[in-house]
Amino acid sequence: MRAIYLAPFGIIDEDVMSTLEVCVWQIYGYEVKRMPNLPDPSYALDAKTNQYSSALLLKDLLRRVPSDAVRVLGVTNHDLFIPMLSFVFGHAQVNGPVAVISLARLHQEFYRLPENKQLLLHRVMKEAVHELGHTFGLVHCSDGRCAMSLSNAIQHVDKKTEELCANCSILFEDFTKQKRRENGMEIQQ
Ligand SMILES: [Zn+2]
Ligand SMILES: [Zn+2]
Repeated sequence: MRAIYLAPFGIIDEDVMSTLEVCVWQIYGYEVKRMPNLPDPSYALDAKTNQYSSALLLKDLLRRVPSDAVRVLGVTNHDLFIPMLSFVFGHAQVNGPVAVISLARLHQEFYRLPENKQLLLHRVMKEAVHELGHTFGLVHCSDGRCAMSLSNAIQHVDKKTEELCANCSILFEDFTKQKRRENGMEIQQ
């Protein structure tokens, strides 16, 4: 049975990890497993901005994909960037095996507001479903409530839900059916 792996960089809050386990399983239907905590990605630090290169984290994850993994989702507390963008909530390889999300800007404290654990967990779920969606070939969706709608500000994250709209759900089903056919795993009826 193939699984989606969660890959924590360093120590990640247990509530975040267990929430992700349930949510990813509910939305994508794969068993969810955890990789042992990965070393802190100091190799990806940009000392000038104190941010981490999401592309380098993805590269690191690519070398660690377990043989039974359908996808690997990295989780980091560090703030991430890609060149040309001041920050990203996450980054994924479209149609590829790996994605990563950052918790840094999902905390209310980042915006100098009081801590709100429930809000944090909802934001984490939305970003995880979003980045994993890209790995399953999904692109940005115009339905503002769909997890695949684009978020480049926290207000956008809060407007959407952690669920895929009907259209994106169908695209995900088609994608996985197609993959199963390619892998010769389709059961003939
Ligand atoms: Zn996106
Ligand atoms: Zn959608």
